[in-house]
Amino acid sequence: MIEITLTGTGSPMVDPNRAGPSTLVRAGNSTFLVDCGRGVLMRAAAAGVGAANLTALLLTHLHSDHITDLCDVITTRWVTTIGPNPLPVIGPPGTRAVVEATLAALAPDISYRIAHHADITGPPDVRVQEFTSGQVWDEGGVRITVAPTDHRPVEPTIAFRVEHEDAAVVLAGDSVPCASLDDLTLGANALVHTAIRKDLVEQMPAQRIRDILDYHSSVEQAAATAARAGVDTLVLTHYVPPLQAGQEDQWRALAAAGFSGRIELGNDGLRVQVG
Ligand SMILES: [Zn+2]
Ligand SMILES: [Zn+2]
Repeated sequence: MIEITLTGTGSPMVDPNRAGPSTLVRAGNSTFLVDCGRGVLMRAAAAGVGAANLTALLLTHLHSDHITDLCDVITTRWVTTIGPNPLPVIGPPGTRAVVEATLAALAPDISYRIAHHADITGPPDVRVQEFTSGQVWDEGGVRITVAPTDHRPVEPTIAFRVEHEDAAVVLAGDSVPCASLDDLTLGANALVHTAIRKDLVEQMPAQRIRDILDYHSSVEQAAATAARAGVDTLVLTHYVPPLQAGQEDQWRALAAAGFSGRIELGNDGLRVQVG
């Protein structure tokens, strides 16, 4: 069994009720955080998970809304752990430079805490691995593979397939439909996909917002990817515009037109069990 918790269903469009994009994946004794948008540690705490308990941080891409709280994850894990607790971070090429720049920005904080606490003797131990495809994790009965997605001009971007016992979940991140995401998702139990309402975004007057139409999947496109892969469950997240209370059925109907399985969407904290 794998349990998915939507720890952030928001987007760069600030919504007081939606944290930035992130998803918690629990499999066996492992807990993975996929992306770390605005407010993620507050939502993870509500789900019973602290930064110190994360098995690894997985990043689909380096768009700011998906990594705003990287600093919070790194520093909170560092200061709330007694003893060594390196943080594995797996992301696309470019991740190491972002982590190093984050640590560089934290240099004053790191020096203050090392000077003040006798038991903090070094900076946060962050271990970055960069991938665009292949198997990236095989520990504790959990296997993770990645494949490239298509979020151009943002590249490289990756999706994660997490497998544990008989369950498999794919976390697509931001992407338009593409063959490599289809291949990664084939035969999984669930697909967690970011989605935008193209019908609503098209009507927005600001070109800056309409610019997002060409590199995200619409609800219908995410549903079509789920249908091609034959998954049982589609979990939609990262709603643009923000999903308003009472609109859930509209979103669900758009997905159901092209996908006959279970469709899950909703508020931060939504939990979905698969397998
Ligand atoms: Zn993005
Ligand atoms: Zn995004």
